[in-house]
Amino acid sequence: MKVISILGSTGSIGTQTLEIVRENNHKFKVEALAANSNIDLLEAQVREFRPRITAIGDESKYEELKKRVGGLTYITAGQEGIVEAATTEGSDTVVSAIVGIAGLIPTYNAIKSGKNIALANKETLVTAGRIITEEVKRCKVSMLPVDSEHSAIFQSLCGSKKSEVSKIILTASGGPFRNKTLEELSTVTLEDALKHPNWSMGRKITIDSATLMNKGLEVIEARWLFDIMPEAIEVCVHPQSIIHSAVEYVDGSVIAQLGLPDMKLPIQYALTYPDRLAISGEKLSLTSIGNLTFYKPDTDKFKCLGLAFRALSMGDSACVVLNGANEEAVRLFLDRKIGFLDIGCLIEKTLDKHKVMNNMNINDVVALDRWSRETILNLYQVGCIR
Ligand code: NAD
Ligand code: MG
Repeated sequence: MKVISILGSTGSIGTQTLEIVRENNHKFKVEALAANSNIDLLEAQVREFRPRITAIGDESKYEELKKRVGGLTYITAGQEGIVEAATTEGSDTVVSAIVGIAGLIPTYNAIKSGKNIALANKETLVTAGRIITEEVKRCKVSMLPVDSEHSAIFQSLCGSKKSEVSKIILTASGGPFRNKTLEELSTVTLEDALKHPNWSMGRKITIDSATLMNKGLEVIEARWLFDIMPEAIEVCVHPQSIIHSAVEYVDGSVIAQLGLPDMKLPIQYALTYPDRLAISGEKLSLTSIGNLTFYKPDTDKFKCLGLAFRALSMGDSACVVLNGANEEAVRLFLDRKIGFLDIGCLIEKTLDKHKVMNNMNINDVVALDRWSRETILNLYQVGCIR
């Protein structure tokens, strides 16, 4: 029996993780749940899965949650409470599925306390890839990808030698705006951006998928997860989302992982590796799919992807700035305060203001994240957007 803690249990990844637990209750036990503010769903999850510890990020919801389920579980609140859930002694694996840099400190502490990590929260590696991968090695824990592309790369690397890898091919659906012109992109709405063609996900990652920043963040995630240089990572637009990503070897062989777009597969594999468990439901039929197509990404139209490569070449600290600025820009877009193309423009201006720092520790990352948010909000307030 694997004992797991789920950080971000009320989100898209969190609820799908709990579906896997529900379908395999002889294999998994939930030790801790953590979420930000949706106490109705969290209450239902506590009643069904009976975690020993439950953490609520939003401290103003603590009393109400305690009133509802305080007799069934030990309740903690705030970032300290989330860290307590992430490090609780009873669990062996932490599913890191909080959205944004809010997932960093809990994941960092989970590693330090010896937990294996099933990583959905890509922002952890984007902002602190070097620090996190060093801690993973030092603490002798495993960090397995939940992100579908990285799960595909991980599966395509199984049994091979790192020295024989020549390239990673990271596929991207291209998002809802793949066929739009730059001019059309200047008038797309929030509703258009929230309609992803292939995946149903949280709001922030859905917007990141429309700007292609999600792919940029995934390039940085892959750089750290697989210890591979950015020059050896190629992004390829593949609208059907059937090939989840691939690895090219020195002899020209390309090994890919294919499947229908369903996050349950990579979530489950991160929890059962090296074993595979049956999943009910439809399976991939290549003959009913018919065509698989591939394109080069257009970084003039989708500036955010180019900005991610730029941040990687600038240095680790620039990736922190890229991420913090992106989180704030996406928030402004979700609040209808800026247009779709303004997201990339504001992030670029924030990166322009950044002076690269070396040898960061985790506190430096947190401080720099705050600086990037203040800087982008300031640019927005003074109207310095385009
Ligand atoms: P979501 O918005 O659906 O859920 C986010 C979860 O994080 C919620 O449970 C929320 O309560 C929790 N949360 C947010 N802020 C918090 C805070 N300050 N403290 C504690 N909890 C907090 O997001 P999602 O789509 O499930 O994505 C989660 C992560 O997984 C993201 O990093 C995303 O990039 C990554 N990811 C998601 C998918 C997907 O299909 N949804 C695929 C690949 C990777
Ligand atoms: Mg992905």
